[in-house]
Amino acid sequence: MPQNVDVVIIGGGIIGCSIAYYAAKAGLSVVLVESSQIAQGTTCAAGGMLGAHSEYLNDQFYSFARESQVLYEEFWRESGIDIAYTTGGIVQFAQSNEERKALSRWHDAAYLSPEQIQERMPSVSPPAFGGYLFQEDVHVHPEKTTRAFCQSAEQLGATILRNSQVDEIETIRGGYRVLDWNAKHVVIAGGVTSGMLIPGLQMTAVKGQCMQLDGMGMRLPYTLFHQGCYIVPRTDGTLVVGATMEPGVMDLDTTIAGHFALNDIAERFISGLSGFPVLKRWAGLRPKTVDDLPYIGRVPGKENMYVAAGHFRNGILLAPATACLIRDLMIGIEVDTERLETFDPKRGIFHGTRYRVERQSV
Ligand SMILES: Cc1cc2nc3c(=O)[nH]c(=O)nc-3n(C[C@H](O)[C@H](O)[C@H](O)COP(=O)(O)OP(=O)(O)OC[C@H]3O[C@@H](n4cnc5c(N)ncnc54)[C@H](O)[C@@H]3O)c2cc1C
Repeated sequence: MPQNVDVVIIGGGIIGCSIAYYAAKAGLSVVLVESSQIAQGTTCAAGGMLGAHSEYLNDQFYSFARESQVLYEEFWRESGIDIAYTTGGIVQFAQSNEERKALSRWHDAAYLSPEQIQERMPSVSPPAFGGYLFQEDVHVHPEKTTRAFCQSAEQLGATILRNSQVDEIETIRGGYRVLDWNAKHVVIAGGVTSGMLIPGLQMTAVKGQCMQLDGMGMRLPYTLFHQGCYIVPRTDGTLVVGATMEPGVMDLDTTIAGHFALNDIAERFISGLSGFPVLKRWAGLRPKTVDDLPYIGRVPGKENMYVAAGHFRNGILLAPATACLIRDLMIGIEVDTERLETFDPKRGIFHGTRYRVERQSV
């Protein structure tokens, strides 16, 4: 006999788990279904930066990202769970006058001259035109954070089903049937494979490779960032160097070309860093939409069915704000119209041959 529940969430990455938490906190009965284990998809490949400034896409993205940063701090303080919430922020490097000018538009950033950077971080090769410190762009540990959302959701009564694949969402009277559950609402948070459950959804993959180095006692007070590449200092003393951008590559192999690219990134920031012991290498698939902004909202033509996927480089950053937006839609809280339009999934759902050439299924 199927059991009734308010919402079934499909996907146990950071997006699905944060939705489970905020929905359960709002009093909804929640079931989350994950085909493997929690946080073992793209989420576990991430650096964990909350880079509202370094990843700026447009003003809507920015205000959403800033709200998410605030929600993270609240969650970290309220839950008391170790998510490796690391303050300090990101120093964005300026290697040319143009880059410096572009960064100077941010009024909430502090300029650091090359000398100041060297003084604060003697091991770092100072960028020719200095850098800007964005203190709010802190970082977290992606896997720990996802498990923390999951654990907190469970404490609020959510049911988490692992090793359970959803192949079909059946429409029934008053809602949907997913496996053995009848739900009023369904949320698809399946990351890069979300298109399997939403016909016509445009989603491609951009592979990213990273490496984790033994920091050998080198303590960086900030994440270092330049043109999409970075070094994230983790709380355990290791350094995460990332990441390659390989559009359309679907495998999770680490490659020789990837090793060279990551060594090059490491050397750009800290001379000699590529010789530090490598503890781990990995790859992940960033879920990319038609315009790099995530799909968050109602699935067109399907009442009470939602998608929250395609967060590309920013799923960790945007997870809590995404969850609150989906929660508000489910419980009927008014959401800003411009925000709804910005993230509306309908901009990425195409049927028929006209768009097939753009489609790259994963
Ligand atoms: C190298 C790299 C570095 C990154 N660094 C950052 C960073 O510093 N900051 C940042 O904000 N973002 C970063 N990202 C992006 C971020 O990792 C992703 O945007 C985010 O993890 C996407 O989360 P998700 O929950 O949507 O997807 P996933 O983590 O992939 O989770 C989706 C889950 O759904 C499950 N699933 C799918 N289909 C089904 C089904 N039919 N039934 C049941 N379960 C299903 C999958 O098994 C999976 O566990 C990075 C990504 C990469 C690759």
